[in-house]
Amino acid sequence: MTAQPQVPVLIVGGSLVGLSTALFLAHQGVPALVVEERDALSAHPRTRGVNPRSMELLRSVGLAERLRGLPSAGLLAHNSGVRMARSLAGPELGTFREEYYREVRSDLSDLSPADWCLCHQNELEAVLREAAEQAGAVVQFGTEFVSCTQDASTQDGGPEGEVTAVVRDRRTGRTREIRARYLVAADGSGSTVRRQLGIPFPGTGQLGRFLAIHFRADLTEQLGDRRFVMCYTFNSQVRGALIPLDNAREWRLDVILDPAAPADDPRAFTPERCTELVRAAAGVPDLAVEVLGAMPWTAAAKVAAAFRVGRVFLAGDAAHVMPPSGAFGSNAGIQDAHNLAWKLAAVLTGQAGPALLDSYHAERQPVCAATVRQAVLRQQDRPRGGDRSRDRGLPPGIVDDAAIWFGWRYRSTVLATEAQSWLADSQLADPQLANSQSAASQVAEEDGVWTTEPLGLPGTRAPHLWLRAEDGDCSTLDLFGAAPVLLTGSAAGHWPAAASAVAGEWGVPLRVHSIGGPDGPTDPTGGWAKAYGVTEAGAVLVRPDGVIAWRSPDAPHDVHAALRRALGRMLGR
Ligand SMILES: Cc1cc2nc3c(=O)[nH]c(=O)nc-3n(C[C@H](O)[C@H](O)[C@H](O)COP(=O)(O)OP(=O)(O)OC[C@H]3O[C@@H](n4cnc5c(N)ncnc54)[C@H](O)[C@@H]3O)c2cc1C
Repeated sequence: MTAQPQVPVLIVGGSLVGLSTALFLAHQGVPALVVEERDALSAHPRTRGVNPRSMELLRSVGLAERLRGLPSAGLLAHNSGVRMARSLAGPELGTFREEYYREVRSDLSDLSPADWCLCHQNELEAVLREAAEQAGAVVQFGTEFVSCTQDASTQDGGPEGEVTAVVRDRRTGRTREIRARYLVAADGSGSTVRRQLGIPFPGTGQLGRFLAIHFRADLTEQLGDRRFVMCYTFNSQVRGALIPLDNAREWRLDVILDPAAPADDPRAFTPERCTELVRAAAGVPDLAVEVLGAMPWTAAAKVAAAFRVGRVFLAGDAAHVMPPSGAFGSNAGIQDAHNLAWKLAAVLTGQAGPALLDSYHAERQPVCAATVRQAVLRQQDRPRGGDRSRDRGLPPGIVDDAAIWFGWRYRSTVLATEAQSWLADSQLADPQLANSQSAASQVAEEDGVWTTEPLGLPGTRAPHLWLRAEDGDCSTLDLFGAAPVLLTGSAAGHWPAAASAVAGEWGVPLRVHSIGGPDGPTDPTGGWAKAYGVTEAGAVLVRPDGVIAWRSPDAPHDVHAALRRALGRMLGR
């Protein structure tokens, strides 16, 4: 076995989440090494829905237009909605409409500069890989993670310790060691890393079994001008979901299997049987079908008990699995990657203390657990759309899709609680604002995770508003990314000088954007202060991942001391 020089971050798994982590790390200046046991990226289209929050994150690293230019994104650009039918050629039973459900083509322009991008996961992964490599990451295929040990003397996770992984070359069988400061396990639901660390993965393992049949058949005529995301087909021969991959000849049929029926054993699905099922779902008995593949999969709902053990972090399906209803699973993984990347980078450069790394579990685990619950509620609710005669009403606790994309609230030691934010304010000018803020906080307390109107609460996503800058319109979200940001209003007062002093004291970059101020972008709608829950004399500290760390509704007596405390806390120092 040969020892290797050290890498800052080793990522196990080169699929959606491993590649996203490598990409976001590279954009923070950290060149990660990705090891993937396959010989190449998976060619299976798998998930197709990059949701609006994930698109915001991918937009922040300049990939939005590239994703929209993908062949599958072009073909699916006008698909929206879920239908129910006896078969594709047969009568439609209805369109799925529920108050919590937002169709892909809903207008989100008030909420976000981004919206859905439907594209195949294999095409998305190719873009992520290329962009990550261009930005400095290295991806090694045919390399299997075998085991790892952590440096016991540095359990606080500070940047000076290391983790040593043993990997095997799948071609030669030779093993070697890789030393890294940190390891990110993005090795999927069966994660070897998670199992070796003994991290419990509780939840429900069998919420449904499916067979994903990938096939070619010309269904142009039966589809007509309909452009749906999926069509549930229920008849005496098949129960499943038909998913168009190009609105013409390439499709996926997810067949719902009955675990108790021997005929539904996935091994019984020969190409002939798959062809029969496709014909039944299409409603065309003599349809010419080419079966490209059939992959059994199980819908499960599980969340790892710990997202971090020492220097090792779990992300994506290694940390959580959920039913596909809502398409939250893959997107939650992209959001794990984004939450973690800037924290690892900040600790590696010495800008942040190791306590910042604890916040990864504290922030992501409850939000992922709540997202899993929402996916389960949606899976339970879907059949209701097809059979109103058994209508039991909406499942209690189900929340709007948009709240799941944009309305989560993190809680961790590096985020101010609202009480602390308000302590900074000794001279609140607007009592009405104060009332609306405390009402919003109450909603958040009751629900735990979801807020319908975050209003700039610490721990929530910084809201989107269109601003006007010298070089054109931009979103508030475009101001965040590389470094922490202090947003101030037209009455910025002492904030810019305090920011410059505090940045020097902590040794970190801190950008100031005074919205409506002399050098800042203008606010055409005049809505920024209200959206962020401050006055024009207040300030908001936003992390590189676009999460509000702290805010001061007005200018406190000692601007410098308040900001110094807030930035130190945000950095875990
Ligand atoms: C047929 C199918 C359909 C799906 N449809 C949807 C959908 O409609 N909506 C949705 O949200 N999600 C869907 N998913 C789930 C979605 O694909 C996953 O959520 C997503 O891929 C998770 O990404 P990940 O990177 O965390 O894990 P994975 O994609 O599972 O990737 C893990 C990677 O780690 C590698 N690996 C594992 N062990 C090792 C090791 N020891 N050493 C090195 N490498 C290792 C694997 O080879 C793999 O490439 C679907 C999945 C499948 C299979």
